[in-house]
Amino acid sequence: MLRKNHKKNFIGTSESYLRNTFTDWKPYRIHQIFNWVYHYGCRDFSVMTNLSKTMRGQLIDLFYFFLPKIQNKTYSQDGSIKYLLRLEDGALVESVWMPSESRKTLCISTQVGCRLNCSFCLTASLGLKRNLTSGEILGQCIAINEDLEKRDAITNVVFMGMGEPLDNLGPVVEALRLMTAPEAMRLSTRRVTVSTSGLVDKINSFQKENIHINLAISLNATDDETRNRLMPINKKYPIKTLMKCLRNYPLKPQRRHTIEYVLLRDINDSDEDARRLSNWLKGIPCKINLIPFNSFESTEYLPPLESRVLKFQEYLINQNFSAFIRQNRATDILGACGQLATQSKNLSYA
Ligand code: SF4
Repeated sequence: MLRKNHKKNFIGTSESYLRNTFTDWKPYRIHQIFNWVYHYGCRDFSVMTNLSKTMRGQLIDLFYFFLPKIQNKTYSQDGSIKYLLRLEDGALVESVWMPSESRKTLCISTQVGCRLNCSFCLTASLGLKRNLTSGEILGQCIAINEDLEKRDAITNVVFMGMGEPLDNLGPVVEALRLMTAPEAMRLSTRRVTVSTSGLVDKINSFQKENIHINLAISLNATDDETRNRLMPINKKYPIKTLMKCLRNYPLKPQRRHTIEYVLLRDINDSDEDARRLSNWLKGIPCKINLIPFNSFESTEYLPPLESRVLKFQEYLINQNFSAFIRQNRATDILGACGQLATQSKNLSYA
C-alpha cells in the first residue's frame, strides 16, 4: 500500500521487493535492516549505523513505518485477550492472544470480513471489505507483541481470524516468509499454522511457494450436501476433490495436516459422520481437532451434547487417528473460532 507521498510501509515489505529496489546492494544489507526492524524493534532508519549514510537516506526516501493501532482490548476469563486493531485506512480487524502453559498463541486476521459465507461463522456476516496487506498481517503480531510483557511474547501464530487466508494468497505468503525468516521474526515453521476452508486451487499454489508451515483444513462435514450448507465453497471444491488434494500434498517428514471439525448438534455429529470422516481421512497424514460449537445469539446451530463429542472422538481413536477435543478459547468475549466480527461491525470503518 503506497501512501499519498508514494512511500511504502516497510513492515511487510518482502526481501525480493527490496532486492529489486536496491539492485546494487549486497543481500546481507537487507538482512541487516530486517534485523534492526524485526529483532530490535527499530522504527528509525537514521539510527541503523551499520548502513552507510547514503543507504539510510535511500530508505528514508522510500519507506515509512506503520503498525496497526490497538483500539480496544477485551479480557476473557480464560486469560485470552481479544484485540481490536485499527489499520491505516481506519478499517478494523480482530486478533486473539491465547496463553497456555507451554505456548502463547496469536490468532490473526487476513481480511477485513470474508466472502466465503460459512453459515456457522459470524465473520461471514460482514462480507468481504478488503484484503489485508502483508504489513497489516505481520503488523498484528508486532503491535500485540509490543503491548505484551516480555514473558508473554507470542510463540505460535495461527491464521484463523477474520478472513480466508488463501483467498489473499500473495500478502499471506509474504507475511509468512518474514514471520519465519531467521533474519526477520524468527518463528519456527512448526509454530505457524494457516487454516483454510479448502480452496483447492490455492492450496496447490501455496504448496509451490515451498513454505513448510502447518496447514489446517476446516472440514466440518462428511457429505457434500451438509458441507454445501455449512460451507458454500464446497460446491466448487467438493470433499472428494479436497481429499485428493490433501493426499497429494507433499509434507515434510513427521509433519501432518490438521483437520478442524466443528461439531454441531444433529448436523454433523452422528456415528455415521464419524465413520465417514474416518473413511475420508484414511491415508492422509493428519490429526483431527474436534471443536464443540460455541453458540452465539444470531446462529441457528447448537453445541453438541458432551456424550456425542466423546463418542465421536472414541470412534476416531479406535480407527487409529489422533483425535483431540479442543475447547474454544475466549468464548465469553466472542473471541472463539468464527466469532470475530461483532466489535468491528459495530464501529465505523474510517
Ligand atoms: S469460517 Fe473462515 S472462511 Fe468461513 S466465512 Fe468464516 S472466516 Fe470466512
